[in-house]
Amino acid sequence: MPVFSIGAKPGKGKFLDACGHTVELNDDEALPPCPQCEHSAEVRWWRLI
Ligand SMILES: [Zn+2]
Repeated sequence: MPVFSIGAKPGKGKFLDACGHTVELNDDEALPPCPQCEHSAEVRWWRLI
């Protein structure tokens, strides 16, 4: 599965971090730090959809 860092703009889709949290992006949005992880500097996002 493709893995993305915070700030990447992979396009519209749903993404999962290592803790099981998800975020949804629209086109042209950047991946945020995980809103549910306290120390999110190392967060990587995997594409689900
Ligand atoms: Zn998280």
